[in-house]
Amino acid sequence: MKGETLKISLTFLSLIIIFIIDLFIPLGVAVGILYVTSVFGLLTLSRLNIHYYFSLICTILIVSALLINIDDSTSWKAIINRGISIAAIWVITFVIVYYKKSISFKEATILKNQAKLEEINESLANKNKELEQFAYIASHDLQEPLRTISSFSGILNETYYDQIDEIGQKSLDFISDSSDRMSALIKGLLDYSRIGKEKKIELIDTQQLITEIQEDLGQAIQEKNVILRYSDLPKINAVHTDIRLLFQNLISNGIKFSKEDVQPEIEIKCSELEKFWEFSVADNGIGIDEKYFEKIFIIFQRLHAKTEFEGTGIGLSHCQKIVREHGGEIWVNSKVNEGSTFKFTLYKGNSIA
Ligand code: ADP
Repeated sequence: MKGETLKISLTFLSLIIIFIIDLFIPLGVAVGILYVTSVFGLLTLSRLNIHYYFSLICTILIVSALLINIDDSTSWKAIINRGISIAAIWVITFVIVYYKKSISFKEATILKNQAKLEEINESLANKNKELEQFAYIASHDLQEPLRTISSFSGILNETYYDQIDEIGQKSLDFISDSSDRMSALIKGLLDYSRIGKEKKIELIDTQQLITEIQEDLGQAIQEKNVILRYSDLPKINAVHTDIRLLFQNLISNGIKFSKEDVQPEIEIKCSELEKFWEFSVADNGIGIDEKYFEKIFIIFQRLHAKTEFEGTGIGLSHCQKIVREHGGEIWVNSKVNEGSTFKFTLYKGNSIA
């Protein structure tokens, strides 16, 4: 405010000086140029009316100087010159005001859109929370009746299996299979809604972590004679259980979706970007058609029947949620029969609590 008052005072002073010069040495059209130049000094002021006031003052000063100096020798040319100066001052004033109005309109629109965006973001975050809460409660509560179905079908299996006919036995097998499967799905859903609740960021040696996962998956690795390559993997700041699950899912998918007649090879690499770590998990397995690149990350989406490859369709949606919780993205590059490379980024700035 202090700066604005100073600017107004200085501009006013310069108008008076121009007026005095104009009185003694009539400036003609140049008077308009000088007045406009000083009025330009007010461009940064927030009040729009000030431009009209100063244009009015300029007009009064130009006319006054003319009236004070007017005599028989004053030519029509001099009067027209002053008229042109006044017209120029007003045209420029209107242009300035119009320009400032359109800028403040744009600024107001941007602010309004920003506020709207923040509102949408907030409601989206709330909806997400509600949905996770719902998934948690639903899956938690579904476990109870499912346990009852499982235990009673177990009792039927143990006690009456031999006493019922073939159709009855098949029906019992279906019930057991379905309840096992539903149990796996519900567990997956519960785990999914729990991701992100653990906030403890730790320094993780990913090289060491992969060695541990390799030991955990020892049986599957041995059965399929898998070659697992990894070296020089970095130490990162992240949630340990999440990162472990992320690598474990990707590596076990690499093993599971291998080609029957080819020795599975999985290679894990990492490159350091400015703000992110970019990991890749590449395999030489069955590959994925490009049209499914996004679908596979959606919960419960699978590309194969469970008789072909076991699974629930939850692993990659877990991976995506974990990566997003760590400020990154996950995607896949693949060609059918030529293997797949899953890549993901993790934000480096996750700090230790
Ligand atoms: P699941 O492994 O339980 O089926 P995922 O969410 O881990 O569930 O994977 C979803 C689908 O993506 C899989 O059913 C499979 O069709 C495809 N997929 C995942 N990883 C690979 C891979 N490494 N190679 C080929 N297909 C894959």
